[in-house]
Amino acid sequence: MTSLHATIDRHLPSADVPASDPVPALLARLCALLGVDGASLSQRAGDRLRLLAASGSTVHHPDLAPLQRRALDTDAPLVIPDLAPPGTGRSALRFFAGIPLVTGDDQVRLLLTLADARPRSPAMAHQLAALAIDVTSRATIARLTRSLEQQRALTAQRLALFDRASGTARIGVWSCDLADESLEWTDGVYDLFELPRGSALSRATTVDHYLPESRRIMEAARAKAIAECSDFCVDVEIRTARGARRWMRLTGNVETRDGVATRIFGMKQDITEEKLLADRTRYLAETDVMTGLPNRSQFQIRLADLDGAEHGAPIAGMLLVDLDGFKDINDSHGHALGDECLKEAAARLLACCGEAVLVARIGGDEFAVLLGTGTDMAALADAIVQSVGKPYTRDGRPIALSASVGAAHYHGGTADELFTQADMALYAAKAAGRGTSRTYSR
Ligand code: GH3
Ligand code: MG
Repeated sequence: MTSLHATIDRHLPSADVPASDPVPALLARLCALLGVDGASLSQRAGDRLRLLAASGSTVHHPDLAPLQRRALDTDAPLVIPDLAPPGTGRSALRFFAGIPLVTGDDQVRLLLTLADARPRSPAMAHQLAALAIDVTSRATIARLTRSLEQQRALTAQRLALFDRASGTARIGVWSCDLADESLEWTDGVYDLFELPRGSALSRATTVDHYLPESRRIMEAARAKAIAECSDFCVDVEIRTARGARRWMRLTGNVETRDGVATRIFGMKQDITEEKLLADRTRYLAETDVMTGLPNRSQFQIRLADLDGAEHGAPIAGMLLVDLDGFKDINDSHGHALGDECLKEAAARLLACCGEAVLVARIGGDEFAVLLGTGTDMAALADAIVQSVGKPYTRDGRPIALSASVGAAHYHGGTADELFTQADMALYAAKAAGRGTSRTYSR
């Protein structure tokens, strides 16, 4: 099992070890029999030691790992009756015995560890180790092997289930060793990046797949999680090996040893469809689909922020534009052509308003323009009347278009008041014969 799969195994909801599992029970009995605080059984997996079962608290002492590795490397029992007392602030580990065991198939290398905060005399220490070897007879080892096989089968079953479930959810697991930045991915991540499964990975080439802004977001979240030994979740955009753009939900969890981050691992999930759907939903909620302009609700949101506290630019004034005699266009040329004229009017209006804060369609044939400081509103209003008022030619036939514009400068007051003033100016322009503009004055 790779270390990545070991990680997944550790973080999957655990299939509880049955109460009848002989390994923890045997270790507890061994502790009682020998009068030691802790006993554990570990398995060598590559250059890592995997704890299979433990009894007592001393066996989780951080200083144990190097001693255990020494015992496994020499393949002979390592007995240390009295380790040096710890410095202040550290719990004691004084007695250690590491006993390598070989299971039946000679493939699995196990280590039985005895540990205690109390030192032993050299004679007693060796007697305890000898007793432990006696107790863990061939029959016991055979039982341990069987138990391990069962555990392995269970793990394989759970991992297969995880792989199937993660494939359906378009999810993969990733892991990065912080010592050398080496990466491990499950197949789901390779699929997401459209890279051949199992191909060589390097962090330098992987981060190149991120789009620049997404890469910045990912690096910042990752660095913060490592510094604080915490976790993160960000949505980022990547370009796959085949050039497709995909949205990915990236989660990361930091693993620590003695308070120092050693590894970072998490999930990568393809959320492209979810993201596109959300974007589309937002677009539909904010946009007038016929003209592509922001709709009335967007206009109202922006108008409500007159001083620009949320959107960054204060509003200095507003224009209301309404097409003249538009019902007649519908009546004479049909609704479909009426729609075309609306689109044409919207495009012309937008072309006139390059400096506007917002150009929106707020009703049937009514548009609104919000302006920041520095625009000559009366001149812009006239330019709109001229531009929108040019005939629209369809199949060689000119169709007369016309617009009236009402303008209002913002001199304080509420958004409603500004709108009412622009509306009054528009009314005045209509009353003046249409195809013209008026500016509200107090
Ligand atoms: P006025 O000069 O006073 O503005 O008169 P008008 O004929 O333009 O009438 P008004 O502005 O009061 O009404 C706008 C008309 O626009 C009403 C409706 O028939 C038409 N209209 C509204 N929405 C649409 C649309 O989406 N497509 C088309 N083709 N016509 C629309
Ligand atoms: Mg009209």
